[in-house]
Amino acid sequence: MKIGIVGLGLIGGSLAIDLRSRSRSGVSSQGHQIYGISRQAKTCQIAVERGIVDDASPELETLAEAEIVFICTPIAAIASTIKQLIPYISPATIITDVGSVKQPIVVECTQLWSNFIGGHPMAGTTQSGIDAAVANLFSGAAYVFTPTEQSKPENIAKLIAIAKELNAVPHICDAQIHDRAVSWISHLPVMVSASLIKACLTEEPDTLHLAQILASSGFKDTSRVGGGNAELGIMMAKYNRAELLRSLLQYRHNLDEIIASIQEEDWHRLEQTLQTTASARTKFLNS
Ligand code: NAP
Repeated sequence: MKIGIVGLGLIGGSLAIDLRSRSRSGVSSQGHQIYGISRQAKTCQIAVERGIVDDASPELETLAEAEIVFICTPIAAIASTIKQLIPYISPATIITDVGSVKQPIVVECTQLWSNFIGGHPMAGTTQSGIDAAVANLFSGAAYVFTPTEQSKPENIAKLIAIAKELNAVPHICDAQIHDRAVSWISHLPVMVSASLIKACLTEEPDTLHLAQILASSGFKDTSRVGGGNAELGIMMAKYNRAELLRSLLQYRHNLDEIIASIQEEDWHRLEQTLQTTASARTKFLNS
C-alpha cells in the first residue's frame, strides 16, 4: 500500500519508521511504500537519509497515488493541509489525522473530504521534530479512531489493520467523548504539571536552588508532561477549551477540598481521599 505521511515530526516520523520496518519485516501482508511530506526540505532530506521513509518532498502532489494519507502536522495546520492536498489525490484516498483533539477537526475535515476519519495514537514523548522520531512508539498504546455515520466500514477496517501493524490497540469512539476523556488523562495533567513547576518557581532563590538539587523521581514523574512541547499544550487548550475548562474547574474543587482537610487538620478526611486515589490509580494504568 502506498502511504503518505504529512508532517515528519515526532508522530509522523515514528509512524513512518514502524510502517516501513513492519512492511520490510513481513508483518504487513501487503508491503507499504512510505512517502513523507514536510515543510522544510531539510526535514525531508534527513527522513530519506535515515531510512525513515522511502521518499520525501515538500510537494503534496507526490501523494497523488497514496491510498491512505496521515496528516501529522500541528493541529492548527490539519484542515489547511487537507485543503491543499485535495487537488492531487483520488476520491477513494483515505485521509486520517493524529491530532490530540478530535471533535473540531472531525467536524471541519469530514466536510472537506468524505473519506476523512479522525485518529489519535495515544503515545508521545516530550521531544519534537524529525530527530525525536523513534521505533515502536505506538507499541501497546491505544490508537483511537473517531469515524462518523458517513465513514465507510472498509475504510475503518483499513485503519484498524494499520494500528494493529503498529502493535497499537485500536479503539473506536465518538469524537466528543474522546475529547472529554483525553481532557482528564492528557490535557488536564499537562496544565496541572505546568502549574506545579510554576508554583515551585515562586520560592525564594536559595530554597528553590536546594529544591532543584533535591528533586528526584517523584518530581520527575509529576513534572514530565508540564515540561514538554508548549505548542502542543496551547493546541490542547485552544481546540479542547470547553472540556479542559470543565476538568480544570473540577480539579480546582478537589484541590480546595485537600487544602480544607489540611487547614482543618481533618486527617481522617485526607486519609480517605488518599486511600480512594491509591486504589483508583491502578484502573487508569492496567487497561
Ligand atoms: P512535531 O514533532 O512538531 O512534528 C510536526 C511536524 O509537522 C514538524 O516536524 C514540521 O515539519 C511539520 N509542520 C509544522 N508546522 C507545520 C505546518 N504549519 N504545516 C505543515 N507542516 C508543519 O509535532 P508532533 O508531536 O509530532 O505532533 C504532530 C501531531 O501529533 C499534532 O497534531 C499533535 O496533536 C499530535 N500528537 C502529538 C503527540 C505528542 O505527544 N507529541 C501525541 C499524539 C498526537 P518541518 O520541520 O518540516 O516543518
